[in-house]
Amino acid sequence: MRRLRLSLLAASVVLASSASAFAADAPTVIPAAAVHTAEQLRDKAMHDDTAYRIVEGLTTEIGPRLAGGPNDQRARDWVVAKMKALGFDKVYTEPVSYPLWERRSESGEIVAPFPQKLVLTALGYSPATPKGGLTAQVVAFPTLDALKAADPASIKGRIVYVGARMQRHKDGRDYGIGSPIRTQGPVIAQAKGAAGFLLRSAGTDPHSRAPHTGVTGFTDPAKTIPAAALAEPDADQLERVLAHGQPVQVKMELDCGITGQYTGANVIGEITGRKYPKQVVDIGGHLDSWDPGTGAIDDGAGVAIAMGAAKLIHDLPQRPDRTVRVIAFANEEMGLFGGRAYADKHAADVANHVLGTESDFGAGRIWRMSASVKPGARGAIEQIAKVLAPIGVAYDADKPGGGGSDLSQMHAKGMAALSLTQDGTYYFDWHHTSEDTLDKIDPADLAQNVAVYAAYAYMAAQAKGDFGSAPGAFPGEQGE
Ligand code: ZN
Ligand code: ZN
Repeated sequence: MRRLRLSLLAASVVLASSASAFAADAPTVIPAAAVHTAEQLRDKAMHDDTAYRIVEGLTTEIGPRLAGGPNDQRARDWVVAKMKALGFDKVYTEPVSYPLWERRSESGEIVAPFPQKLVLTALGYSPATPKGGLTAQVVAFPTLDALKAADPASIKGRIVYVGARMQRHKDGRDYGIGSPIRTQGPVIAQAKGAAGFLLRSAGTDPHSRAPHTGVTGFTDPAKTIPAAALAEPDADQLERVLAHGQPVQVKMELDCGITGQYTGANVIGEITGRKYPKQVVDIGGHLDSWDPGTGAIDDGAGVAIAMGAAKLIHDLPQRPDRTVRVIAFANEEMGLFGGRAYADKHAADVANHVLGTESDFGAGRIWRMSASVKPGARGAIEQIAKVLAPIGVAYDADKPGGGGSDLSQMHAKGMAALSLTQDGTYYFDWHHTSEDTLDKIDPADLAQNVAVYAAYAYMAAQAKGDFGSAPGAFPGEQGE
């Protein structure tokens, strides 16, 4: 009896010490059986059309999903119903509040010296022009830096135009040119006394007359000016007219603006973990879209990829050890409101957010993986990379993993994060335009994305050990 007690005691001491050693410094490992299952998930996903049917349904039955717009509630109801129909263990929403911006009508024209229409679209948070439109002389700048350096006297009372071009790249890096012009340009122009702001669309199809909308950096309603993007050929036309050397008068007529405050929600669905239900692997996309298109590549695809991956994990004979959580974020487009609300709500629990990443760069094939994890989890990341290599994903060990747009906010709180970078060569041809429609999604490319998300999420859910999530664990990193 005494002997038995002693041996039981000894056994529990051994267990306790091995558990603490495991938590403290043993490298994180993905068991061989989990790697094998992940390979099966990957191969099955390559021939699974669940995600495609989701993005087809969302873009057909709901269509455009401007945050707070007429389809906001319908889109949330649609995703809730779809998650339940797919058999997710838990489906719920978390409220997200933000200013409600509406687009009602928009038009533009060159008034002098060569009168003609211009194709443009208002930017997010732009106020309306006065009734009858805003007519003013145009002052043009080739770059944002040129606008920053300009004498306010040359700008006062005029419509500022910035004409920098973006080129196509696999990694979409020229959005680093176009996006700051769209966000900062109107703010700088307003501060220098401009009456209005125009830019060459932040896009990469020089032949498309579909202008690219997107958010401005306006935060103070008292400091705004009407702001819009010209379609690329219309920007070319304006530049040719300006090159004649005469003063150019443009009229912008925008009916849009903030009409109040709106409360929407992040929609969340879970495949509940069998052993550690409170530990979660986060995947997702954003449910809102801009209004000219149907939000297929931005970001119906991301929501569908995450839901399709979770459904494959759901269909395994046994639930994963940890919870796989799909988040369809609210209002990413006008300021990461869903991502920020999620991070604020879950910050105290960040250590339980084992690893996460969001899909928000279209539906092109994933070609690169990078990670921000603790050093002891690098081996597990290499195990994930090995499973993803046969479907064209290269592991870049030197780049950090930003977690994607909304989940960059949770990463900033200390969640370990991946970046799964899609081929964005054509993404900015259609991004934020009327061309963002389902036909731009190749079902086989979308399936490859699902394969990557299913395999990674499952391996993270089965890992022995963690990836380094802790409050403030990844300071000073930029999200992607
Ligand atoms: Zn997006
Ligand atoms: Zn977007």
